[in-house]
Order: sequence, then C-alpha cells, then structure tokens
Amino acid sequence: MNHNGVRILVLLGLITSLGVSATSSAQGTPRRSITPITGDLYRGQNNNHFTVFLVTDEGIILTDPINTGFATWLKSELDSRFDVPVRYVLYSHHHGDHASGGDVFADTAQFVGHENMLSHLAMPPESTPLPIEGQYAIAATMDANGNGRIERSEASGAILNNFSGFDANGDGELSGAEVLRGPLSAVRPPDITYSTTTVISLGGKQVEMTWVGEMNHSMDMSVITFPAERAMHIVDFITFQRLPYREMDFENGLFDEWMSAIKHWESLADDYDYISPGHGPVGDITDVREWRRYFEKLRDAVADGIDAGQSLEEMRANIEIEEYSEWEGYSWLDENVLGMYHFLTDDDDS
Ligand SMILES: [Zn+2]
Repeated sequence: MNHNGVRILVLLGLITSLGVSATSSAQGTPRRSITPITGDLYRGQNNNHFTVFLVTDEGIILTDPINTGFATWLKSELDSRFDVPVRYVLYSHHHGDHASGGDVFADTAQFVGHENMLSHLAMPPESTPLPIEGQYAIAATMDANGNGRIERSEASGAILNNFSGFDANGDGELSGAEVLRGPLSAVRPPDITYSTTTVISLGGKQVEMTWVGEMNHSMDMSVITFPAERAMHIVDFITFQRLPYREMDFENGLFDEWMSAIKHWESLADDYDYISPGHGPVGDITDVREWRRYFEKLRDAVADGIDAGQSLEEMRANIEIEEYSEWEGYSWLDENVLGMYHFLTDDDDS
C-alpha cells in the first residue's frame, strides 16, 4: 500500500471515530476473518455478518456467501488454506445481506435452499407500482419527476446505498417491481430445493437443512445443522446479544409463528454445543433462551402499556428493558416497541 492509501485509511478511521459514518468505514475496510469452531467446522466473518463452512476431503460445504466482496475474499482464503473447492452453498434464506455473492462459487458448487426461496426471488409483475407501504415505501417519495421509476439521481438512503442490488436488469433505474422485490440482484437462485428437511453428504460428512416454517422474518428460512460437530448455523429469526432488527418486520404479522419457531429451536438447542448465529458471537442454548426471554419481556412491556392506556409515542419514549441494555442494537428498542405494538394490535394479520 502506498502512502496515499495509508492516509485514506487513517482519514476513514478519523471519520468513524467522530461517529459521522460507520457505513463508509465498513465499506472501505470490512472486518473479515476465519475462526475455527470445532473439528473441520469454521466460521467466516464479514463485518456484522457470519457464515460457517465444513471442510471435507472432497470439498467444502459453505452456508451463506454473504456478498460478492466477501465471497471473493473467502474463495481465495479457502484455496490457499484447504486446497479443495466449495462443492455446496447452503442458503439460510434469500435476504440479500446474507445470500448474495454465490456466483463466485458457481464454477464448482451446487446451491441449495428451501423451495420458497424461488418465489421470494421471483420478479413481481412489470406493472407493479412503486410501493407506498412496507419496507421500501420511502421509494415513492423519491420519484421527483413522477415517471414511476427511481433514477439513480433520485435515489437516497438505503435504496441509493444498494442501488445495484435493486437494479436487477442493470438499466440504471428502478421499477416498482425491482423496489418491491428488494436488493436481491446478486443472489444466485438455488439449483436444489427441498420442502421440509434434507441432508447434504460430502466426503463422508453430513449437513442437515430444516425448514423453520412460515414465520415473520421470511418464508424460506432454513436452520443448517452439523450433527457430528454438534453445531448449528441459525440466522436472523434468532440472533445472540443483539436486539431484533429495528421494527421486527412487523408487516408480515406472523409473530405467533415466530415465537413458536424460537421455542421449537430452543427445545432442540441442548443437542448443540456450538450455535453460530448470522449476527453475534457463537453461543449455546443459554443464548437462545435469552433471545426468547427478550421477546417475552418486550411483549409484556408493550401489553402492559396498552392496558395502562399509554399511547404508542409514550411507550416508544419510555419503555426500557435494562437487562438487555448491553446488547448490540439497544437503540432499536423504540422501533422494537413499534413492531411489537403492531403485532399486538393489528387484527388483519393474515
Ligand atoms: Zn434476513
């Protein structure tokens, strides 16, 4: 690296330490690592996202590729450390922040996901208008020239930050269908799908994928387990030492199903010594239990507020769950309260 490169890195460090933009730092110098979990099972990190992979004599079984930059880095690391190719990529679910970048491994790997992943990845009809509700409702407000599309010059915020992720046909503007589908253009569809559970075997080792069921986070969520290693890769519907993301995707409304899924996997978690979440540190059943307890405390706090006649605004301002204040994302608590309020009060959930 030349001196200019060093200066740029130092400058990025200063910007981050001033709290101006953690994002630009994350994009400039991603935190990447490979750490052993147990036996031939390893964990890969890209900033706040984690994947796992199992090395066998006949190749590697990788879970989420995360994104193209990470996958490119990982492929080179795997080549030099293990000298066997990635033979399978097993998707936890379709979301672009975990499932992107699979093309990097397409020369040697097959891709496996739950069958619902295909409908999540499908492009909505061309006539779909820019969304006025839901996660990307903000898009409609960006259409300054009123042509029903978002040109790059009109985009801002999360949509600008991941413009190419939304722009599936690469024409430099986003249709309503592209916005509604989400930032999925770097997600390679699975070659192999399954409905309830499936086993991937390679080099005398086995990995299981189990559908979590219909629930709030997505309809195509798989828990990926390594029985011989007593290990599990579990993503987004359970995370460790980190609050649920922002408004908890309350628009899907399947909160009871989400709680059932958490309790189901908590009931199985004692069989696993190493539970590696898509976000947060490797943990065990204790961490799953803490996650479930957080949901229950949040639900009880919001239900008590409703019973006491508090407004949503009062609850968002006042509810604290002190014992979780050390968790990452505690500043999302007021948005968690909003999501929980909708779960408890919306009666058109289905
Ligand atoms: Zn997700």
